[in-house]
Amino acid sequence: VAEGEAIHVVFFPLMAHGHMIPLFDVARLFAARGVKATLITTPANAPVFTKSLANKIDLEVIPFPSEQVGLPAGVENFEYATGTDTLEKFLGALRLLESPVEGVLGRLEPRPRCIVSDLFLPWTADVAGRLGIPRLTFHGSGYFGMAVSDAMRKHRPFAGVEDEDEEFVVPGVPGEVRLTRRKTSPQLKAAEEKQSGIRELLKAAFEAERKSYGVIMNSFNELEPDYAHHYRNVMGIRAWSIGPVSLCNRSIGEKATRGKKAAIDEHECLRWLDSKPPNSVVYICFGSITNMSTPQLRQIALALESSRQNFIWVVRRPAEAEEEEEWLPKGFEDRTRGRGLVILGWAPQVMILDHAATGTFLTHCGWNSTLEGISTGVNMVTWPVFAEQFINERLITDVLRVGVSVGASQYFDRVVEVASVGREAVEEAVRRAMVGAEAEEMRGRAAELKEMAWKAVEEGGSSFEELSHLLQELRSFDAARADEYYL
Ligand code: UDP
Repeated sequence: VAEGEAIHVVFFPLMAHGHMIPLFDVARLFAARGVKATLITTPANAPVFTKSLANKIDLEVIPFPSEQVGLPAGVENFEYATGTDTLEKFLGALRLLESPVEGVLGRLEPRPRCIVSDLFLPWTADVAGRLGIPRLTFHGSGYFGMAVSDAMRKHRPFAGVEDEDEEFVVPGVPGEVRLTRRKTSPQLKAAEEKQSGIRELLKAAFEAERKSYGVIMNSFNELEPDYAHHYRNVMGIRAWSIGPVSLCNRSIGEKATRGKKAAIDEHECLRWLDSKPPNSVVYICFGSITNMSTPQLRQIALALESSRQNFIWVVRRPAEAEEEEEWLPKGFEDRTRGRGLVILGWAPQVMILDHAATGTFLTHCGWNSTLEGISTGVNMVTWPVFAEQFINERLITDVLRVGVSVGASQYFDRVVEVASVGREAVEEAVRRAMVGAEAEEMRGRAAELKEMAWKAVEEGGSSFEELSHLLQELRSFDAARADEYYL
């Protein structure tokens, strides 16, 4: 590439909002730094990427082979892949994308210099290998989650533990990370027993991670330094921390249009927040794919009612739930009028978290939500549901000490089927995060983390510099020596 000429980088996110949103942010970061960026997706997911204002990203839309694997038309997102059968079909369809993606990469002009693709699209490493270009893995998770999951797989510390609720310490990682079988082993068990597709995928994903050029991490070095060091030097994986990526492109329009169209007018939402004192609102959201049962929603409603705090509550219900079903306690809306806002569907999350009135975030500890909470300096109430969310919880409550746990101990497969956490526990955790000396102390630490996050992405900050180094390497990448980069 001649001096000053833009290199071309192709981005390929996994079709799940928790993966598409941050990788889109990464693509925009690259574009803002002079890279020609192309993003590959499928028809039903394309609107996520085209809504953005001042979009400098080229889209390549490839058909999703739903029909070929026996999925209904339009089922192109992990969100709909609930249940073992659908999930297996969905994973099968992802594998069929290999050849179309290779076709796109082969014909794009100018010739792509690199592909950045999700951890769970491992075959992209083979495609990149054949084309002689580097593949960078994008993780939907941070260093802490990656390090602890790796140690769990290697050391299986839960193996000798009989009691599902007995805490064990995860060996081989810095600090004392405590987990239980109930919070973690179902994931491993599921991977081993029923969901063989998931097991195969995990295996392939981590093998491909090792043979890729390196990893792009949505994190910043100052947030989890011991675990970033562990990942790079003990696990031996090359990684660039370039986050929090949600801090890029922050104008109101951009914030509100991340992911899907919001189910509330964002100006109305802002007016509502403007009318509330600083740090007086609890924001409750369980991410893009977790659904709550009616009994569990009722417990949350009762807790919010008796907490007497202002709240914005984002509610996602299972697709099969009856529209008219009474899921809120009778009179809830009247009794919380003026101090509560329920959003049925998609919320402009970052915009809400960013508002001075929002004081606490009750979160399921998905990595994007975790980082968004950190970048906006709110206290957190942690309520993990599945995957590495129970691990992220330990980072929030024990390592960073900016959150209070509701004490969720049951791993669910994305759908909370029973009322696993009672109203008292929810109310108590919300109160601890909102008022009193403990809340104030947490708020102090949360404010420091927010400042560190913003510093990291500013010119000269650690994430800014890591991206500069990465881009420099990609610019000078010598295709003739590509073999040296692949183990
Ligand atoms: N999100 C949003 N509005 C919603 C729900 C989610 O904007 O109503 C965004 C949220 O800001 C985050 C992403 O969707 O960027 C969810 O990712 P996360 O890793 O937190 O959880 P997942 O959805 O993968 O479980």
